[in-house]
Amino acid sequence: MTTTDGSGTFGRVLVIGGSVAGTLAAAAVAPHFDEVLLLDRDVLPEEAAFRKGVPQGAHFHALLAAGREAMDELLPGFSEHAVALGAARLDSAYDVMRLDRVGWSPRFASTLEFLMASRPLIEKALRDRAQLLPEVRYEPGAEVIGLVAADGRVTGVRLLDGRELTADLVIDASGRSSRAVVWLAELGYLAPTEEVVNAHWGYSSTFLRVPENWSPGFRALAVTPFGEGALSPAAASRAMAMWVVEGERRWILTVQGSAGDHPPRKEQDLRAFVSSIGVPELDKALEEVEFPEPISIWRDTRSRLRDFAGQPRRPEGFLAIGDAWMGFNPVYGQGMTAAALEARDLRDELATHLTEHPGDLTGLPARFYAKADELIKYCWNSSNALDHRIPGVEYTVDGEPRQVDPSSSDFSDRLAAYMAQDPDRYIRYRETTQLLRSPEWLASEEVVSAIKANWDELGRAVVPR
Ligand SMILES: Cc1cc2nc3c(=O)[nH]c(=O)nc-3n(C[C@H](O)[C@H](O)[C@H](O)COP(=O)(O)OP(=O)(O)OC[C@H]3O[C@@H](n4cnc5c(N)ncnc54)[C@H](O)[C@@H]3O)c2cc1C
Repeated sequence: MTTTDGSGTFGRVLVIGGSVAGTLAAAAVAPHFDEVLLLDRDVLPEEAAFRKGVPQGAHFHALLAAGREAMDELLPGFSEHAVALGAARLDSAYDVMRLDRVGWSPRFASTLEFLMASRPLIEKALRDRAQLLPEVRYEPGAEVIGLVAADGRVTGVRLLDGRELTADLVIDASGRSSRAVVWLAELGYLAPTEEVVNAHWGYSSTFLRVPENWSPGFRALAVTPFGEGALSPAAASRAMAMWVVEGERRWILTVQGSAGDHPPRKEQDLRAFVSSIGVPELDKALEEVEFPEPISIWRDTRSRLRDFAGQPRRPEGFLAIGDAWMGFNPVYGQGMTAAALEARDLRDELATHLTEHPGDLTGLPARFYAKADELIKYCWNSSNALDHRIPGVEYTVDGEPRQVDPSSSDFSDRLAAYMAQDPDRYIRYRETTQLLRSPEWLASEEVVSAIKANWDELGRAVVPR
């Protein structure tokens, strides 16, 4: 596809899905197109409200620091706008009380900031900023049911209402329920290899009302002591997070259970499930809060990777992004951040591509997938390393069961204990887990030899309390 008007910009991009990945992808490509049209089958609310097309919006959504940074780059002013709408700014080392297998994390004032908000608020803040871009327009109530193609290139989409829309580029950002594989098969393209990991996690979440001027000693509490040697047999499969999300009095509680030990839906049962973890600080906090809203549950926590990057043959003019490419086990909080980093890669690859091939989009999908695949595979491997240790975990490739390799946690537990010993080191470590810093230094000679030299001492620190 080449520009025909000589202006150096292309005509139209169609983005399927106007949620987090779609909005960020729209911002990424907008400078090179006259029109970016986001098609969403949902009604997109004006307010930060729950909607049918994003049912996960009722659950805790951590936005990693790297994701927020990329969102601010793609849509300048995003963070300020989110805060103006009610999002909380948290000091990641001071405001957050974390208990995991190496005990309570150190707490001290730092400059590592965390933005915390409900999922609907994050989406609204992104959409508001995107709507300031003159090229960007949302069309709600527009459900895509297929692709249109000619001569090895996707040239548009088909809508449920019978319309066909044409485009120079189609981006699938329709999330975990994406039908892209079926649509591509209709055009004669083989499905990408699909890997699925299921550690049978389940969620129960509800928004909380906390007392006026509540001061529990934290603005966020995360308890993840699961695994061997957990606080109690029940805690081995259970985790939870309780965070301020909007204003000072709206908090969210999300409770998670792995290996099929799913948290219940009734308030009394959910409270009992949480107290079984055995953390007095958590029990005390829970006694002081009310559950004024319904409890939502979520059971499909499979990680699913469709290997679009590895496809031997693909059409031009089409690419998938966000959960449509890889849907993560949400427990590890990577989805929105991955979508933002992929969109930033798309922006950069598109700009470089057009410098090398002015006015020609041919080759863009291959180049985008190759670049963003580095991040996708990193996230995939890191979350699977954790899931692979969970009893009963299932792993399939194209539906065929495969053996998992339950990697030992001996080194990673000692690594966490070593990082907690020193504030500077701890901040660098948290920057790595927030994807702000390359993980390479965790495997550096300096770190590995320090851990080996103190193996027994660090091992003794790996008790939850
Ligand atoms: C329970 C749960 C908890 C999570 N927690 C976290 C977390 O803590 N941190 C984090 O970063 N991520 C988390 N995630 C992941 C996060 O929700 C997604 O990664 C993120 O929203 C990016 O998704 P997306 O934009 O690709 O898709 P979605 O947000 O799912 O949006 C897809 C959009 O496409 C639209 N659509 C679908 N099909 C069509 C169609 N045919 N035509 C038109 N429109 C269509 C839908 O209406 C929707 O608007 C969690 C997910 C779940 C399930």
